[in-house]
Amino acid sequence: MSITQSIVDAVCERAAGRPVHTVRVRVGELTAVVADSLRFCFDLTTEGTVAAGAVLDIEQPPGAGRCRACSQDFTLTDLVLLCPCGSADVEITSGRELEIVSMRVG
Ligand SMILES: [Zn+2]
Repeated sequence: MSITQSIVDAVCERAAGRPVHTVRVRVGELTAVVADSLRFCFDLTTEGTVAAGAVLDIEQPPGAGRCRACSQDFTLTDLVLLCPCGSADVEITSGRELEIVSMRVG
């Protein structure tokens, strides 16, 4: 998974040689990234790096959208971007995050 490689690269770069204990990431539910696979790939990818054995803490904000037609906020469970009012003019406000929130080193 190349996402995992990017995360591990960024973490190792910032750790600058110090051992990494915990990495906290935010992965929105609409990114289609499965937490278990991410954790599995993370363990494989960190092998032999300063992040080996680090705990990966995954936050998964649920998907949310706002309808431009009726201004309603609603939950998005998948990529079907339809407002309950029937409009497809929907802006995604949450759920596409894919970022490192924090890490503990040293
Ligand atoms: Zn609507």
